[in-house]
Formats: sequence, C-alpha cells, structure tokens
Amino acid sequence: MSKKRVYTFGNGKAEGRADMKELLGGKGANLAEMNRIGVPVPPGFTITTDVCTEYNELGHEKVIELIKDEVEKAIAHVEKLTGTKFGDKNNPLLVSVRSGARASMPGMMDTILNLGLNDEVVEGMAKKTGNERFAWDSYRRFIQMYGDVVMGLKPESKEDSDPFEEIMEKVKEEKGIELDTEFTVDDLKGLVQKFKDAVKKRTGKDFPTDSYDQLWGAVAAVFDSWSNARAVYYRRLHGIPDEWGTAVNVQAMVFGNMGNTSATGVAFTRDAATGENIFNGEYLINAQGEDVVAGIRTPQEITLEGSRRWAKLQGISEEERASKFPSLEETMPELYKELFEVQRKLEEHYKDMQDLEFTIQEGKLWLLQTRNGKRTGAAMVKIAMDMYRDKFIDEKTALLRLEPAKLDELLHPVFDSTAIRSAKVLAKGLPASPGAATGQIVFFADEATKFEQTILVRTETSPEDLEGMNVARGILTARGGMTSHAAVVARGMGKCCVSGAGAVKLDYRARTMTIDGKVYKEGDWISLNGSTGEVYEGKVETRKPDMSGDFALIMELSDKFAKMSVRTNADSPNDAKVARDFGAKGIGLCRTEHMFFEGERIKAMREMILATTTEGRKKALAKLLPYQREDFEGIFEAMAGYGVTVRLLDPPLHEFVPHQQATQKALAEEIGVPIEQIRNTVAELEEFNPMLGHRGCRLGITYPEITEMQARAIIEAALNLKKKGVDARPEIMVPLVGTLKEFQLQAEIIHSTAKNVFEEKGDKIDYLVGTMIEIPRAALTADEIAKEADFFSFGTNDLTQMTFGYSRDDAGKFLPVYLDKGILKEDPFQVLDQRGVGQLVELGTKRGREAKKELKVGICGEHGGEPSSVEFCHRTGMDYVSCSPYRVPIARLAAAQAAAREQ
Ligand code: ADP
Ligand code: MG
Ligand code: MG
Repeated sequence: MSKKRVYTFGNGKAEGRADMKELLGGKGANLAEMNRIGVPVPPGFTITTDVCTEYNELGHEKVIELIKDEVEKAIAHVEKLTGTKFGDKNNPLLVSVRSGARASMPGMMDTILNLGLNDEVVEGMAKKTGNERFAWDSYRRFIQMYGDVVMGLKPESKEDSDPFEEIMEKVKEEKGIELDTEFTVDDLKGLVQKFKDAVKKRTGKDFPTDSYDQLWGAVAAVFDSWSNARAVYYRRLHGIPDEWGTAVNVQAMVFGNMGNTSATGVAFTRDAATGENIFNGEYLINAQGEDVVAGIRTPQEITLEGSRRWAKLQGISEEERASKFPSLEETMPELYKELFEVQRKLEEHYKDMQDLEFTIQEGKLWLLQTRNGKRTGAAMVKIAMDMYRDKFIDEKTALLRLEPAKLDELLHPVFDSTAIRSAKVLAKGLPASPGAATGQIVFFADEATKFEQTILVRTETSPEDLEGMNVARGILTARGGMTSHAAVVARGMGKCCVSGAGAVKLDYRARTMTIDGKVYKEGDWISLNGSTGEVYEGKVETRKPDMSGDFALIMELSDKFAKMSVRTNADSPNDAKVARDFGAKGIGLCRTEHMFFEGERIKAMREMILATTTEGRKKALAKLLPYQREDFEGIFEAMAGYGVTVRLLDPPLHEFVPHQQATQKALAEEIGVPIEQIRNTVAELEEFNPMLGHRGCRLGITYPEITEMQARAIIEAALNLKKKGVDARPEIMVPLVGTLKEFQLQAEIIHSTAKNVFEEKGDKIDYLVGTMIEIPRAALTADEIAKEADFFSFGTNDLTQMTFGYSRDDAGKFLPVYLDKGILKEDPFQVLDQRGVGQLVELGTKRGREAKKELKVGICGEHGGEPSSVEFCHRTGMDYVSCSPYRVPIARLAAAQAAAREQ
C-alpha cells in the first residue's frame, strides 16, 4: 500500500488523533481529536507534514500529482457530510485552507477562507442562503485573502498600507461610512471588481475561477509559507527545526458573517497573562475569521465580568458598554453556556489551558481550533501550580509543564511602587502581556535597534514585525484586543505589551504619536506597565520582583527531583548573594582577573608585568596580595558553607598594560622607568593569537610567583574567616591545562604555599585543587589528570572554541551566516554542541571517574544555564552545573526536569 498523505475528519469521527502532531501538525491533530471527543467541528481533512517535505524536494507539480486522488476523495467525503458540492453553482462547498505546523506558530502562515467562490458560485450562494450581502462579503474576503497570500498582492513599502485595505478605505470615504459592516451589496460587488482589477494590474494574472485551481494554489502557498522569512525567523527564535514542515488543513466553511445570529471569536480557558482560572475571550457579531485578531473592529468580551473589567480600563460607562459592546454572555446566553461547557470539556481533556477559536453560524456553535495556549512566564507558573494543587495533574507533570527559560520573566524588575505613583499616565490600554518596560519610541519594527532600549509603537502589529518586537523592550499598540497579534506574540515572547490604547494616534510618515493633543516623537522616552495597561511619560524606576509563593513551590519541587546541584559564576560578593537568594549552592567559577583592574591594583599589576626580575615581580605581587585576600574574604563569606571554585589568573598579560601613548607616559613617570621600556614590554606582549597564546596556567608556569601569591591570598582569606567562625571552602582551579605535568607543577606550588601558610598561622583548613577541562587534550587525557586533581570543571566556552576552532571573539563575522545556511543549528557558544563538544565532555568525565571514582565534576561555561545543555550534563552524570546568577532558577528547574524525564 502506498503511503497515506491525507487524513479526514468530520461528524464525530477522525482518522487522526491528538498524539499525531508530528504528522498532522498541531491544528490538524486537535481538529481530529475534537471530533473524537464529541465537540462540534466542521468536517475536513489534513494533508500531512511529510507532504510539505516532499513539496520542498519535488516541487509543485509532482506533489500535486502525488496527492490528487486522495484529496479528491477527501473532498468527496466533506461533500457527503455537508450535502454540498465543491465548485457547484447552486449548492457550493466552500472551504478554508489553513496551515498548521507541529508547534503552533501563530500568524506565521496565512489562512484562506471561503475558497471555492467565483462570479457564478457567489450568485448561487446568494440564492441558496437568501443573503446576498453575506455572499458578496464572503467573496470580497476571499479575493482579498487569496490575492494577498497566493498571488502576492502586499504593500509595496513599509509606509504603504495594504492595497486591498486602501481600496476599501477609499470607498468608505466616498460613501461616508466607517465600518466594513456598512457596505451595501453594491459596494461589495464594486469592491470585488476593484480587487480583481488590482490583482490583474499588479500581477498580470487573472483571478482563478476553477475551484480546484484555487485549491492547489492555496495548498502550494501554505507549503511555500513554511519557507518565508518571518516563519524562518520564528523557528529560529523558538528552536523549531526547518525539516518539520507544515500540514495543510482543508475544512468546510462555517460562517460567522451571516447576520446578527452569527459571530466569531477566540477564547482562553484561563487568563494567559496572569494565569488566573477565569474563562475569557473576545468575539465579534457578524464577522469572519481574522476580524477578531486583526484589530479592524473593536472586539467584545465573551464574559460579562470580562466585559465590565474591559470597560473600566477603557473608561467606558456601563450604559455605553451594555449598549455598544455587550458580552456574548448577554447577547447569546444559550450559546455562551454551550461554549462554556465546551471549554471546560477541552481543558479537562487536555489537562492544560486551552486557546480556542470558534464560530457561530446562525445560532449554531462550531469549534475551529484548540491548542495549549501560549502564556507569559507568570501565567505558566500559576497555571501549572494551580493545576498541581487542585490535583488535576501530578507534581512531575506540573514540573515538566514549565519551560525553564521562561522563568526568566519572573526574575526581572517590576516598576517601583513609589516611582509608579508619581509617574504621569499618558494613556491606558489593555494589559496584554505583563512586565515593566522603559524605552525610546520607534514606529517601525525594522528600526527597533535604533536606540539601545526601545518601545515599538504601532497601530497594530503583523507577523512581519516579529523580529523588531523581539528586540524592543516593550510593545504598545493603538488598536487590537487581548487576542490581537501583538498581544499573543508578546505573551509568547514574555515581552511587555499594552494593546488597544485607543487614545494613541499615530502618524507613520511624520513619525509621531499624539495623545490628547500632545505630540511624542521618535526617540522620546515612555514606559509601559503590561500588567495594568498603563502608559507613562518618560523613564520609570524599577525594583526587584517577589520570589515567594508559586515560585518558591517550583523551586521546592525542583529540589525534590534534581540530582545535580546548581552553583553560580560570580566574581563579587554581590553576585554571590544574588545567586544564593536564587538558590545557588556554591560558586562554580570565580574569575580573578577583574580583581586586578580596579583602582590601585592595576598599578601594582603593571609594575609586576614590567618587572625584569623575579625579585621585582615578587615585590609588586606583594602589593596585590592584600587586595586579593580581601576580595576572597568577601566572596567566601557570601557563600559560607558552600564550595567556591577560584580560577587562577587566566587572560594574557597584554590585556593589563596600557596601549596608549598618554597612559604609557603616565605609568613611566609613576613607577620611574623610561617610557621606552614600557613600549618595548607592550610590544613584546603582543601576540598573534592571544586566545592560544601565553595565558591560563602557562602564566603560572612561566611566573610561578603569580600562582604562589594567589594561592596565599586564598588560603589566608579562608583562615581569617575561620577565625571569625565563617565556614570558607576554597577550591583552587588551574585553568587551561593540557598536560598532566602542567597541572602537577601548579598543584605543587599551591600545596607548598598552603603548607607554609598553615605553619605561619598555626591553623589549617580543607581545600581542593582541581582543573578546568577546556582544552581537547585535557579531556582526552583526563585519566592521567584525574589521578592528581580533586575536581574537574568543564570550561565549555574555551572547549567549544578549541573543538570547533572558532575564535569566540571573531565568530560574530561568520556564525550568523552559518546559522542562516543551516551549517549549524544553534550557536554552539549558547547551546552546547552535544554531538561534538559533548563527546569530549562525556569522555573526559568517564576517563576521569575511572581513574578516581570520587572525582567531582561540573560545568562552568555559559552552557551551565541553558536548559538543553543542563539536561546533557545530567545525563553525563555531573555533580553540578554553574551559571550566571539570574539563570540559577532556570538551571535548577532544568536539572529537575532532566531527572524527572528519566523516571
Ligand atoms: P491561525 O493559525 O493564524 O490562527 P487559522 O487556520 O486558525 O489561522 O485560521 C484563522 C481563522 O480563520 C480561524 O480562527 C477561524 O476564525 C477562521 N477559519 C478557519 N477555518 C474556518 C472555517 N472552516 N470556517 C470558518 N472560519 C474558519
Ligand atoms: Mg487559529
Ligand atoms: Mg577558559
């Protein structure tokens, strides 16, 4: 039997299932599932994601040939269930063509509605329904969508508006009307003609009239849209592989635009911004599809409670609300009840917050989509913990529900409550995505990097704006509701967003925003509160967020599951404290180089570098010793009771010497040597390849007195603290070791220094001496090194650099191209390359532990806070990961998930 490429659904039956997302895409799989559980869904079929891959390989013609028979059969299936015929003049079947990838990519792919209409069929539709206006409205929409998506009639430049919208605006002006619903049948007929003329003029092609031609065109357009720039960008942003492909869903149309007993809407089973367990959503009467999300008309709230809340935020009186913007609960109470039951059923079934799309056609409810709703980090946490407390899901499920990286949103500042009270509120919109944002205004997404901190201000956003939205600190839109494109995308990104701030008037050409007569220009500062919908003038101060409640519960659950502990990379007592508050159990990497830069220290450091004799160097180092000791005392104290891994001096010395004439001169005068000598030393220190040059333990080998001074400072600091009753646990780490002998020589110095200090002070402490594994040779010879070392810490920044042969400081020139061309899937400096670098980590760990069973192993590269890399570390059997302070909670959760997945 040949491969099955088309799966049908309808009338309570389906060939697909919810767990077939890979093949049918999320939308298709859930349309099938909804049929199976008895939710009303218009019949249709799904063309698999495999066909998308075939399309990319074989091209348009061959693929249509491959699926033609199956699609025709599936159309016949839909015809039978609906009692209509595709392309028939008198009793036509109209369909929607919808994309749907495995992971939801909202608004990334374009949907075409009302496919199957032409000049004759529209007349038949009018006759059959007795609703001429509806028929022509549908036809007008179809030409518009098809013209845009399939035939490519888009705005020509960013200042231009949509060509179809422009035509409509002109007609509205001529007629003196404002809303789409005010068009007469003749207006609509006129629009259809004008639209077709515009298509012909721009593309030179006639609008297709044959329904199958229309269908194949639409199917191909969906497949093509998988490769468009914004889809590619979205995938990169969310780590979705290019090979997955999209499915195509073809589904019988139901119509929300058949008059006042028809409507369309979207709803969430819980609040996607805050996570509260409140059913909510938006709808429009006599409207179709995208009207609600597109922000063209002001959508109304589904529930009465939500409607009242909304009116209050908008400053609309109860009378005006009830008459102009009533809720679905008020306008169609029976259907509201039905919808309420359906949403409950869906949440019970999927056991997660659902984001659903529905249409009401002449008093009958149809569901068009359901999926696990996108949500903010705060909502993600609240929903998972609520469901866990309500015993709706167990603790493991709750934990695995959480996306570690999204915890980040909860860790960042919120507006300071005093600052906010005195801030001037410019406008109020909807609290579309929480957070606090301050920045300079930009009006175009591609200009979001114009200033360091920007707020993107738009009438509404569209998928083209994705990249700019991601860069901006916050997003403000004048139109659109809680389910507008801006709101949904911002929540997905965890980005602060205020939508539908009606008082904001924009002039894109002048690049200004006007609120109550006051003009704001590009570059002016504003602040947004995404939790209240308020827009403030200027910069507003922020403060630390609250870490109790649900957040604490998650951390508690995490600790229950996690096998690895989480340390932090910290070079100062303050960083150590922040990380400790986030639950860090120790420091995995304390860099010492910055300790040589501040104030007086740099002078002594330079003196040391410039010294021509060992004696001279020792004299200078003696000046540095007290500074170092003091720094270590601060850090050890902040991490009392936990191990602190201190890395000995690592960077090449030329980073410490002055390179400018003036500073060289000043230094010469200060330490009393001729400027010539300074210049010569600087020139001598110059290296062709500093990254592979005189650095790391190579410094300590050539200048043992540096290692000696550092070891002394560390041990003395620990002993001083011991006297004060503070439990300091130093772990001294030798960087950049590639051979056993290097490590041995450095360890000898450390041990003999420690011994001397112990004798001098008449006291001792425990300390460890280990090494960073960051040179491939060290990983390969880990068995030798482990015999002498107490611990290994994988320095995956350098290890990645050396394994790939990419200089991290120069990779910016080619890495973007490599990612673009698919040579690399991810930036290996952010996401550990498990396939390559990972082998060295595994091998190093294995050989190291074979030589010494109790060898402590951790990671201290940037990867230590990246969830997929943390999971890898867990599988490798590491004792801990170490990451920057703000990533500690993320790593704790990721470590717990890795362990939970194994159970
Ligand atoms: P997206 O992935 O951008 O949400 P969809 O495929 O869900 O795109 O389509 C967008 C909207 O079009 C839906 O929310 C729904 O309102 C409308 N729509 C899609 N298919 C149909 C249909 N068969 N009948 C009526 N409306 C439809
Ligand atoms: Mg949808
Ligand atoms: Mg290194």
